[in-house]
Amino acid sequence: MDCAYCQREDFVLENELAGAFFADKPRAKGDMLIIPKAHVENFVKLSSKQKAAIDQLIFSTKKYLDQKYQPNHYNLVVPEEDKLKASKHLYINLVPSY
Ligand SMILES: [Zn+2]
Repeated sequence: MDCAYCQREDFVLENELAGAFFADKPRAKGDMLIIPKAHVENFVKLSSKQKAAIDQLIFSTKKYLDQKYQPNHYNLVVPEEDKLKASKHLYINLVPSY
């Protein structure tokens, strides 16, 4: 499948099933995307193991950004399937706020 997210390897943080990287077009300093390493199109299609991996990575990414940028708080955005890019690879957006 021709999916840029499936081919992604430059993760800032990762675990077995999920990876985190800085957004190409950041909405704020430290704007990061968290994706399942496998191609999944919708949050409800994630396995419980993938959900646990993503959940763990959201917390470690938050910790990483807390140390690096000290934001005031975060917004967690889970885009609807029809809002995803052409490749339709699910991502979760952790957006720091200052
Ligand atoms: Zn993909």
